[in-house]
Amino acid sequence: MYINGEWVKTDRQFSVTNPATGEAIGTVSDGDKSHAVLAIDAAFTAFSSWSAVTAYGRAEVLQKAYGLMIERKQMLAELMTREQGKPLKASLNEVQYAADFLRWFSEEAKRVYGETISSARDDQRFIVRYEPLGVVAAVTPWNYPISMITRKVAPALAAGCTIVLKPAEATPLCAIAVFNILHEAGVPAGVANLVTTLDPVPIGDEFCTNIKIKKLTFTGSTAVGKKLAQDAASQLKRVSMELGGHAPFIVFDDADPIHAAKGASLVKFLNTGQACISPNRIFVQRGILDTFVQTFTERVAKMKAGDGLDPSVSIGPLVNREAVKKVSRQVEDALEKGAILHSGGKVLTGGSYTSENFYAPTVLSAVSEDMLIYREETFGPVAAIIPFDDYDQVIQMANDTRYGLAAYVYTKNLSRAMRAFEALNFGIIGINDINPTSAAAPFGGMSESGLGREGAREGLGEYLETKLGGFSI
Ligand code: NAD
Repeated sequence: MYINGEWVKTDRQFSVTNPATGEAIGTVSDGDKSHAVLAIDAAFTAFSSWSAVTAYGRAEVLQKAYGLMIERKQMLAELMTREQGKPLKASLNEVQYAADFLRWFSEEAKRVYGETISSARDDQRFIVRYEPLGVVAAVTPWNYPISMITRKVAPALAAGCTIVLKPAEATPLCAIAVFNILHEAGVPAGVANLVTTLDPVPIGDEFCTNIKIKKLTFTGSTAVGKKLAQDAASQLKRVSMELGGHAPFIVFDDADPIHAAKGASLVKFLNTGQACISPNRIFVQRGILDTFVQTFTERVAKMKAGDGLDPSVSIGPLVNREAVKKVSRQVEDALEKGAILHSGGKVLTGGSYTSENFYAPTVLSAVSEDMLIYREETFGPVAAIIPFDDYDQVIQMANDTRYGLAAYVYTKNLSRAMRAFEALNFGIIGINDINPTSAAAPFGGMSESGLGREGAREGLGEYLETKLGGFSI
């Protein structure tokens, strides 16, 4: 753990395993509530000096961290593949994305401008100032184990806040590697702290109830996010929540079905489907359904699952056996209720599949509303294809979910694209685009997918408090 500028090791350790091989790849300190308290105290003390550093000074530290992350890109990506399982190429992309947040927020730190506002009174002047909130508590998931950290740490530090972060228990080694970089970049003691643990509950409780914490930022499942938001409400702490998704991917019959199928197959199986913006419901207009399913299935059948360090592999393992069980349950349920299986549909065992965490990339069509996969977030390598007849019907089906994170639309008709963009109740919409994300663009969901945005100027605003001065002159 990294507390008050020093590396701390506990006697109680837990081991981290490679999900592709089941091998232990390291041991990590199993911190408890007392470590969270120490880290919060350190962050609280450091706040007064860090918030007084000029924005130029804070930017310089983040810029150094960016440089170090880029220098270590290959090492970090290999670590990520071993710890989390995604193919090396995807890990390299993630490290770049993670570093982008350090760079973007180092630049944006200098652009926290105030405002002057006109008054109706001749003798009055209004001035607005934006100030850092204070100590931030952050909780991050395992699926994007480096970028989800920098997406929180970079804006917090840029704003002048200090932070205590608890990473996911499956991927603490990536978090340690990020904090090594922050240490070497010259982040002062207490400004950024890391508490690792096998049991997140007591740490989460401390984050929600410690009066020194002014804000909680969480990325993970909707169930845990709701619980933490409820607990944090007792002290009216500010919260940001990046939660689950159930993204629709809509292909209208004027789109090129082959181009759309290639795009859908690429984004669906990214990170073995373990992404919050992964398409979970692929709606295809009936006129192009057969061509779409054929091309999609051909692409998927060529995907090789295995250890992400093997360059021929494009699908890594799932995070654990529970995840495999959830996917198997959804596929079995869909097949019992009449879905058609085009590819995959089974757990991969034997030969090089030693860890029991592999599920074959799977294509199902004729998916309908009564199936679990139609409602539940899948978080696995299963594509569910659903036919539709017209615009109104598909918008209604796409919006018929409690989630509202990402959506995708394929069409060549500009007015249809614009109408769908406006009608879909999702925070991020890709129009003929499978990667509508960037450090410079606001990321976040509506409804039960979350509260607030990360990245972009809005992502910095999440760590700032507004102060108004009314001057009588
Ligand atoms: P999870 O909610 O189980 O875990 C996420 C984090 O919360 C982990 O660090 C975990 O240790 C911690 N946690 C769990 N219980 C806690 C508690 N009681 N108190 C404090 N912390 C606790 O989710 P997961 O399975 O690790 O991640 C997958 C989920 O994350 C999916 O639903 C996915 O859609 C979502 N996700 C969302 C985004 C986004 O930006 N919206 C990005 C990535 C992942």
